[in-house]
Amino acid sequence: MKINVEIDKGSGFCNGVIRAVEQAENYLNYSHKLYSLGDIVHNTMELKRLSEKGLVILDKEDIANLKDSVLLIRAHGEPPETYALAHRNNLQIIDCTCPVVLRLQDKIKQTWMEIEPAGGQIVIFGKRGHAEVNGLVGQTEGEAIVVENVHELSKIDFSRPIALFSQTTKDPIEFQEVANCISEKGKDVKVFNTVCRQVASRHKTLVQFAKDHSVILFVSGEASSNGKVLFDLCRSVNARSYTIERMEQIDLRWFKDGDNVGICGATSTPTWQLEQTKTKLYSLLH
Ligand code: SF4
Repeated sequence: MKINVEIDKGSGFCNGVIRAVEQAENYLNYSHKLYSLGDIVHNTMELKRLSEKGLVILDKEDIANLKDSVLLIRAHGEPPETYALAHRNNLQIIDCTCPVVLRLQDKIKQTWMEIEPAGGQIVIFGKRGHAEVNGLVGQTEGEAIVVENVHELSKIDFSRPIALFSQTTKDPIEFQEVANCISEKGKDVKVFNTVCRQVASRHKTLVQFAKDHSVILFVSGEASSNGKVLFDLCRSVNARSYTIERMEQIDLRWFKDGDNVGICGATSTPTWQLEQTKTKLYSLLH
């Protein structure tokens, strides 16, 4: 079968993930064990590669019992209580919170201090329970209201002031829809579009990439929320879009002679995995 395969130039890790993985590897080059609070990246293959170098993933309960060690905080960031716990347990922190997320945390904290005395509410458009969202809610002493879509707005009191923010990896179009609904219903609404610029521009270029190829092979970890958003975006413009986490999931029935296949991925998909997928596809189909 003759096919052409092209990798999306805009895919690969975002800057926040590149920075976190680099810092983890730099540390592991001279010390062979490093603890990370949660998956440093939502990608099983990359996690496997890093665990072979000595990265150990822990959850919140684990770190309650961890003492006198080095702990990496990933790009998503953490709420203030995590830093307090680390301090109590004498944990040295390698803080890889993405600078964009750090600025967002600061902005939410500052806005909360301003509007809370007047009965204001912070609303975050994001995935409930997601690590970044937990870190953002933590800036408001747990008081921020998280909404996942326009059907969840009944939790908001529209008679009180509202400041709306977004998780950095959300779909900018969906954010705009939520912002429009809240602005129509509320009296005093401030909208802060905090979708990461890198994510927003990837949305635009990915739509074009998906339109320009007859088949899309989207490589992403199943736990990646950004991966779900970007894959849905591909599928909305190209019905022959398929997602895989591992190469064994490739189904040859997806392809036909003459196809122009586009390979792309989430902000947590490493470039090496996209290259490997391309090589594998050529070997399976040629
Ligand atoms: S998506 Fe943007 S804000 Fe989020 S970690 Fe990546 S670079 Fe940072």
